Amino acid sequence: MPTGGKPNLTQFLIEERRRVPDATGDLNALITDLSLACKAISRRVARGALGGVLGSAASANAQGEDQRTLDVISNQMFLRANEWGGHVAGMVSEEMEEAYTLPAQYPRGKYLLMFDPLDGSSNIDVNVTVGSIFSVIRAVTPEVDARPEDFLRPGTSQVCAGYAIYGPSTMLVLTLGKGTHAFTLDPVLGEWVLSHPNLRVPAKTREFAINASNSRFWEPAVKRYIDECMAGQPGPRGADFNMRWIASLVAETHRILMRGGVFMYPRDSNDPGKRGRLRLLYEANPISFLVEQAGGSASTGRKRVLDVQPESLHQRIGFIFGSSEEVERIEAYYREEPHETYRSPLFGKRGLFAIAD
Ligand code: MN
Ligand code: MN
Repeated sequence: MPTGGKPNLTQFLIEERRRVPDATGDLNALITDLSLACKAISRRVARGALGGVLGSAASANAQGEDQRTLDVISNQMFLRANEWGGHVAGMVSEEMEEAYTLPAQYPRGKYLLMFDPLDGSSNIDVNVTVGSIFSVIRAVTPEVDARPEDFLRPGTSQVCAGYAIYGPSTMLVLTLGKGTHAFTLDPVLGEWVLSHPNLRVPAKTREFAINASNSRFWEPAVKRYIDECMAGQPGPRGADFNMRWIASLVAETHRILMRGGVFMYPRDSNDPGKRGRLRLLYEANPISFLVEQAGGSASTGRKRVLDVQPESLHQRIGFIFGSSEEVERIEAYYREEPHETYRSPLFGKRGLFAIAD
């Protein structure tokens, strides 16, 4: 077998479909279209400066963030790959304020697609790993244009979620609700080969990922958790921890799926109006689905991410995920410290990371 005895994505999808007697194959076709967009983005990313695609696009996206040239190109690739096939009835992208209505000439399908076409795009110019994230739900009314509110379904209603990671190798990590599986792109064959079936996130970890420069904004439960990790072997955890921070959600997720760890981008305690940084529909929900299907946990700190009822297309949310024992510990700290009571020894006025105010 050309793929060394391992199934490719097409074989994998056909075998998955055989387990569902009345499946029509629409979802498989949609995933194939998505995987093609990811291959195309991978090629553009790999050419780097030679492709003339680095730098800013001199525009802003739906969140008012600087758009990189590759953000715009990747968004176009997702739209073009998925609009024509008759599998989707509408799309939501990080790069577009409004939901995308398909061109009139194409049939409307049974699914709704939400995506972050290029995650971690500020890393592009320094040649650090980026990715694409997607989430698929069933259309409320199949075969007609989706209304914006149709996308506002809790993450539990996802039928498929995944990401592509453009690192030293390109990989596609996918769940259809029966485990989380990783495919490596064979650059010669151009095929996704099932290299890591049934990923499992270890329940225990000694590695955490957080942007420590935001520590003054953290909620008390997060401050307490990080203080205890940083106190190391002599501290309450009785163990030394390691910290990682790539500032690319896909790269952090991939590390955690491969070897465990916990990721935190909590809500900002100083501004109750700020609900975190990451977007619920096309970042937190698909990553949570993948992590849970690999035996890990994903939480806002206060509740399971997948149970959150979305209120708007680009809604942000506090996001904590990874090894289940650590996520459960952080949730317990949130329950114990509902008010701003925790005084941080490390980040307090006289602490190791003293704050001046
Ligand atoms: Mn992103
Ligand atoms: Mn993005």
